[in-house]
Order: sequence, then C-alpha cells, then structure tokens
Amino acid sequence: MADSIADNLLEVRQRVEQAAAKAGRKSDDCELLVVSKTWPADKVAEVANAGQLSFGENKVQEAEGKVPALPDNLCWHLIGHLQRNKVRKALPLFDVIHSIDSLKLARYTSNIATELKLKPQVYLQVNIAGEESKNGYSVEDLRRDYDDLLGLQGLQIQGLMCIPPAAKTPEDARPWFAALRELRDELEQRGGHTLPGLSMGMSGDYPVAIEEGSTIVRVGSAIFGHRNYH
Ligand SMILES: *Cc1c(COP(=O)(O)O)cnc(C)c1O
Repeated sequence: MADSIADNLLEVRQRVEQAAAKAGRKSDDCELLVVSKTWPADKVAEVANAGQLSFGENKVQEAEGKVPALPDNLCWHLIGHLQRNKVRKALPLFDVIHSIDSLKLARYTSNIATELKLKPQVYLQVNIAGEESKNGYSVEDLRRDYDDLLGLQGLQIQGLMCIPPAAKTPEDARPWFAALRELRDELEQRGGHTLPGLSMGMSGDYPVAIEEGSTIVRVGSAIFGHRNYH
C-alpha cells in the first residue's frame, strides 16, 4: 500500500461523511473507531497524531501492553469476545465494551464495574444471522433478557453491535445491518430506555452500514493495511 496511514485515515473519514450525506444523516452522528488490533503502539501513535482519539482492540492482553504506551487522552473500545476471567483486567483499560452477549456476563461485568467505581458504556453483541460459529446474543435470547439487562446499575447500555456473515460484496451485508436497526427499534419501543447506538460496519462495508443507521463503524485494515494475523 503506497498511501500513508494518515492518508488512509483522511480517506476513510471522507467516505464516512459521504455515506452519511447520502443517507441524509449528519456525519457527527457516525463515529469512526479505528481498529488497532495486531498493530504495535508506534503505528497506533501515527493515527493518534493525525487526530484520531478512539481505538478498538479485540484482546485484553494485547491492550494491556499497548494502552499504557500511548497518550492517556485516547479512548479504548473492546470489540472482541470478553471472557469472564478477563473482566477485572478489561474494565480499567476500556471505556466501551462492544461484546456483551449474555445476561450472566452482563451481571458479572456490572458487579465488578460497580466494585471498581466504573460504569462502562456497553453494546450488546447480536448474532444477527444466527450463525453457529459466532459469538453474540441470539435475537430471541436478547428479547428475553433485555429488561433485566436494563436493570444493571454498573453498565450504560448504548445499543447493539453485530458482525454480519462474511460476504462477497458490501451490499450482501445490508439486510443484516437493517435487521439490527429494526431489532434496536423494536427494543426501544418497549419504552423505558433509548438505545441510540448501532456498532456495525467494518473496512469492507462501512458505507453501507452508515446508510443503514450505524452510529459507530469499526475500521482496521482500510487504515493500517492488511493484518498478518488475527
Ligand atoms: C478486526 C475487527 C474489525 C475491523 O476489521 P477490518 O476489516 O480490518 O476493518 C471490526 N470489528 C471487529 C469485531 C473486529 O474483530
């Protein structure tokens, strides 16, 4: 890739704005989260120096090494699966967790957060296509648990997150993004709580996700180039 990381960042920002404009949305309503997993702190610092403040990591252990090596005004999001035995380590590192996918994990995380006097923002991860191999709430289980989730005092529930099935074209992902938005609308209509956030869209499909209502896109390789490992 000939372009610099800073050029890539600029280009992604422009595409976010274009997609928002096309959908008649304000670009402020769609946040860019830069996914820095697998990239060393010095690469992440290049993006931070270009003005990017929020970064996504998928492993607690990797973040433990990286977060302290970078400026402390950055905001860190956990986008990977959260294991119960990592909750206590994860909470002080991450401001936002995108991967809460059971009532049990939510309760436990809420309790530890309260103990640590923290109140993370969370997204409820939904296995929107019902794929067997994927983490995330099934739609039915989320409908069942939703009211209990709202009662947890240690969490600020922002909205829903999904990773749609691998697709050949960005358009293939559109129905899944729309389905997540519709599920969000349905849960909101129960009343009692707004659910403003939709964490959806990655390098291959973020403009489509924005057209379907995404409020935060998680973009890695379009900025850093291809990862050699996951
Ligand atoms: C790796 C990852 C991304 C970013 O993927 P790219 O295709 O590199 O943009 C987004 N979301 C999650 C949950 C990821 O694990």
